[in-house]
Amino acid sequence: MHRVYAAALTKAQREKLTPDDIIALMKKGNQRFRLGEESPHDYLAQQKATAKGQYPAAVILSCIDSRAPAETIMDLGIGDCFNARVAGNIANDDILGSMEFACKLAGAKVVLVMGHTSCGAIKGAIDNAQLGNLTGLLAKIRPAVQATEYQGERSAKNYGFVDAVARKNVELTITDIHRRSTVLANLESAGAIRIVGAMYNIETGLLEFLG
Ligand SMILES: [Zn+2]
Repeated sequence: MHRVYAAALTKAQREKLTPDDIIALMKKGNQRFRLGEESPHDYLAQQKATAKGQYPAAVILSCIDSRAPAETIMDLGIGDCFNARVAGNIANDDILGSMEFACKLAGAKVVLVMGHTSCGAIKGAIDNAQLGNLTGLLAKIRPAVQATEYQGERSAKNYGFVDAVARKNVELTITDIHRRSTVLANLESAGAIRIVGAMYNIETGLLEFLG
């Protein structure tokens, strides 16, 4: 998960890491990314090392936005993390099932819900955009629009409001995970995993962990 590893994370290396260690490694990886000091990834070596098994440290729930690729902005490599991507990083049944697989069966120790600034899905939810299957997806973000307390213009043109809703959406998604996934809630109560949120700023490259 960082440059001391020649290739990909091994089972023994992951076992030694606590959820807090993994979050610290994610923060350090984002710092390397922001400084332009990424690890010299040998993707071919990582591909070969992970071909027979994977021991990812985390499962990330992030948006499909092309400017917010979680692995890249945390300087992670092949085999380091699972990543579920859906516009607006909301948790539906299939996403919850994927995260339960990642943690309970495959041993990931951190669930990271990553929102980002200038999110098109958030803007669409604020504007009540209607389009095919997108309408239903945006309806899952609407509660965050309604729950966001904000002094000022509540429109998709106001970046401050858009980012405040994105942040609230991360918080509500985490609440949703706790409420709808007994598997993950129990793992967290037992100290086996941590469920955390973060906001990625697409202008500065900073990944800010929440809470
Ligand atoms: Zn987005």
